[in-house]
Amino acid sequence: MSLRFEPTINAAWKKIDNINPKQYANTRNYLDGAVTYLSPYISRGVISTKQVVERLLQNGHKLAHMEVLLKELAWRDYFQRVAQHKNLQFDIKQRQGKLNNHQIPEAIVQANTGIEAIDTAILNLYADGYMHNHLRMYTASIVCNIAQSHWKMPAQWMYYHLLDGDFASNICSWQWVAGANSSKLYFANQENINTYTNSNQQGTFLDCSYEDLPDLNVPKALMPLLNIDYQTVLPPTDVLQINPNLPTLVYNYYNLDPNWHATQDANRILIIEPSFFQKFPVAPHCMAFMLALAKQIPNMQVHLGTFQSVLNQTPAPNIFFKEHPLNIGYQGIQEPRDWMVPQVSTYLPSFFAYWKKMSKHLYANYTS
Ligand SMILES: Cc1cc2nc3c(=O)[nH]c(=O)nc-3n(C[C@H](O)[C@H](O)[C@H](O)COP(=O)(O)OP(=O)(O)OC[C@H]3O[C@@H](n4cnc5c(N)ncnc54)[C@H](O)[C@@H]3O)c2cc1C
Repeated sequence: MSLRFEPTINAAWKKIDNINPKQYANTRNYLDGAVTYLSPYISRGVISTKQVVERLLQNGHKLAHMEVLLKELAWRDYFQRVAQHKNLQFDIKQRQGKLNNHQIPEAIVQANTGIEAIDTAILNLYADGYMHNHLRMYTASIVCNIAQSHWKMPAQWMYYHLLDGDFASNICSWQWVAGANSSKLYFANQENINTYTNSNQQGTFLDCSYEDLPDLNVPKALMPLLNIDYQTVLPPTDVLQINPNLPTLVYNYYNLDPNWHATQDANRILIIEPSFFQKFPVAPHCMAFMLALAKQIPNMQVHLGTFQSVLNQTPAPNIFFKEHPLNIGYQGIQEPRDWMVPQVSTYLPSFFAYWKKMSKHLYANYTS
């Protein structure tokens, strides 16, 4: 289990209380910058972006000092909105800019690209379930824009290993880098990587000017390609015990909110649907992290099975769940997720259009 990400609810709150918004703003782009490490808890639905903002304000931080962090949290909410409106299995805006295969470079999977900062970041991802945002961007850029692999399989590779694996942030970001969800491809050269990772490497295939990057031939190191076919190791199931006189609250990979109906007597069931994890496989450390967080919620039963099998034991009007685009076949009473700004819910074609609208509400909500 990762030492950096203790699978407890308190660990998430402690991380929020340690945030220094000014330091975050000045250093977040650097590998050793003061980033929050909150994403595994946010992605598993343990805490929400709204709760982060409200706790920071309670802790005495001023909105004006939080703008950089607010924008990053808004990126998260924006991608969640995109996922509500678009089928993310396809290119969102246009076809990927550069494309010559639908696999993943072997050198990426084996952490052997020759770019030391990237290879170290991949090894850390395998060990720790986390990668810094800039390293994710560099990796995706090498894969999609230099090796010219389609974003889909590499995105699955990264999602599989990330404790914060989130299908919306993940797919939208890969497509953003690859130019399928943005107006241009994202490139970074070795000099940029050196600056933000405190490295000083030269002579790599990225050691060239920005002008040259878009025309680079696929480097030899990235030519061997792989197919990945990940499976999820599923945990044992509890024998469901449903009290028909109580409501049934359904939790899943995206909803482990400990405050949800916390004071109510209820059947609490974590559904682990095999078909879901076949479509979105996760590594054993991600499953273990999720289960440990679920166990923090009193009386949680772990059900390996379909939503239908819960429905067979209690009628739909007794079942409550939180809205999420991946809730396929759910029936019952759907409740909304937390948003920093619930008022802005339509599809907007760019983050900047979203930020323009949502920030007005955000500042109005929290300065009144
Ligand atoms: C190719 C690629 C794949 C990604 N896959 C995922 C994923 O599967 N799950 C995931 O949660 N994030 C993903 N991200 C977004 C981002 O990298 C992570 O959210 C961030 O690095 C998490 O670390 P942190 O909590 O320390 O971030 P901080 O910098 O401390 O940011 C605070 C919070 O803001 C949100 N945030 C920050 N940056 C972004 C961003 N670029 N996009 C969306 N939300 C953001 C996150 O909720 C994060 O926890 C991906 C980015 C890229 C480029």
